[in-house]
Parts: sequence; structure tokens; C-alpha cells
Amino acid sequence: MQTRLKIAIQKSGRLYDDSLSLLKDCGIDLKNGINKLKTEADNFPMEVFFLRDDDIPQYVEDAVADVGIVGENVIYEKNKKVTISEKLGFGKCRLSVAVGRSEVYQNCRHLENKKIATTYPVLVGKFLKENNLKAEIHEISGSVEIAPGIGLADAIVDLVSSGSTLFMNGLKEVETILHSEAVLIRHPQLGKPQQQILEKLLFRIRSVRKARHTKYILLNAPNEKLSEIISLLPGMKSPTVLPLAEPGWSSVHSVVNENDFWEIIEKLKGAGAQGILVVPIEKMIL
Ligand code: ATP
Ligand code: ZN
Repeated sequence: MQTRLKIAIQKSGRLYDDSLSLLKDCGIDLKNGINKLKTEADNFPMEVFFLRDDDIPQYVEDAVADVGIVGENVIYEKNKKVTISEKLGFGKCRLSVAVGRSEVYQNCRHLENKKIATTYPVLVGKFLKENNLKAEIHEISGSVEIAPGIGLADAIVDLVSSGSTLFMNGLKEVETILHSEAVLIRHPQLGKPQQQILEKLLFRIRSVRKARHTKYILLNAPNEKLSEIISLLPGMKSPTVLPLAEPGWSSVHSVVNENDFWEIIEKLKGAGAQGILVVPIEKMIL
């Protein structure tokens, strides 16, 4: 039987959509009739398990799954023997301390002898130890943000992205313990065939991620402005320059990073570029 790479992803929740779209953008088509426990890919040697995110590190440590997609926060909390292969750039959040909005918080000494509610007792314990603090950790399994309001705790440690949940519950973020994003984890000792499939997967993931941050740019330039315009374009190598049917004009093609994009466009226009087209790149193989 053909070896398949077994990957564990979250069965529903914040990482589910992005995990599936990443696989899809890698050209991996999952079989229809996903029964929400496991499925297979049609065109790639892969089997997908749908699990609760908290269970994924354990499954990968036990080699029930070869690899998994999970937030770094879960990996560090669970402390399992797994290896991080690749950051994936989605599911970004931070694990932060929050206290009542009206409280005066100067530094973490504020937490001394306080009661802290969290679903991350291990990471909170580490933070307290590193800062020589004594505080009571009250572990709860969900809706941590309501704990101070109902008198269960003085402070909380929870995942934050926009901060709107804290705000709605009368809390403010005062300290960040950890920055987290989704990562691909792997069992530390994969068999050779699994290792080879993982290499293929990683190659595709890197190509997809690079393409997501890069745009393809096409523009027309008068020949006398070419050198100035080319100097504005970073590109992978030097840009492609093709003559246009109209004498004295050229078409210039290159790639630009999403972050520098608007600034470069302004400068290109200033330098005389016309008919600028910007198109998404689907894959980028370097
Ligand atoms: P499960 O049912 O799988 O246990 P869950 O309720 O524990 O799901 P989700 O809320 O779906 O988990 O979050 C999954 C992951 O998404 C988190 O572990 C974290 O890495 C990431 N994440 C990103 N932003 C946030 C946020 N604002 N709040 C919580 N998690 C976030
Ligand atoms: Zn969970």
C-alpha cells in the first residue's frame, strides 16, 4: 500500500478554514464526503484527521499523525515532544494578561498574591516563575474573560487578537506572555517515506506563502525613463523588458513585495510609468 502522510488539523474553530485553504492552495484536493473525522487527498499521498486543537500535539508525539497544524500557544502549553517545521502565517494572536479597565497597573508585581484565571496554567506558571511572582492560578476551560466580572479572579491570561472581547468585558491588556501563530509540527522521527512526502508538502507551502506576499507588476515606460524605473523595482532578478509596438516605449514586468507595493507604485508613476497592472501570483518557485 502507498504510504500517506497523516496530517492532523483542527476539526472546527479558528484554524479550520485557513488550514484547509492552505492545503487547497498547495494543490491538494480532499475527497468529497468529508466525514469530519478523517479524509484522504485525491492527488497527493495524504490522509487528513480532524481533531480538537488541544489534542493535536499528543497525536503527533504518539505518531498517530505524522504532522499537524496547531497554534504555538497549544504546543508550548502541552509541552509535547514534537518538532516545529514551519510557521504558517495565520492564526496570529498573543497570550496576554488582562485586568479590570479601571485598575492602575504599573508592572507585573501587580499580580503578586492575586488570583489569575486562565486556560493556560503551564504558560502562566512559567511566566510567574520567571518574574518571581506568587499568584494563584485558577484553571478554567472557557469564557475566561468573564472571570473578573463575576468575582472568580483578579486578572486573566487569555488569547487576544483584536482585543475586542477584553474591551466588551471591561478588561484591558497589560502584559504579553507569548506571540503565537499557526505552525506545522512533525513527529521528531518520521520514517523515510513520510519524510519525503513532508519535504514535498513543505516545498509547496513555501511556494504558496511566498506568492501570497508578492504581486506581479506590468507597466509601460518611455525608453528614456527605463533605467530610472528599473532602479525602483526590486524583483527576483532584473526585470523583464520587452519592446512595445509603439516606437520609443517598452513593457516592464517584475515582482514586488506586498508591503512595499503602494510606495513603489507612487514612485513608478512619478517616474513616468503608465498602464500599471498588478496581478496576484498563484505560486512562486524560487
Ligand atoms: P477546539 O474545539 O479545537 O478545542 P478552541 O476553542 O480551543 O477549539 P479556537 O478558539 O478555535 O480554539 O482557537 C484555535 C487557535 O486559534 C488558538 O489556539 C490560537 O492559536 C488561534 N487564535 C488566533 N486568534 C485567536 C483569538 N483571538 N482567540 C483565541 N484563539 C486564537
Ligand atoms: Zn482547543
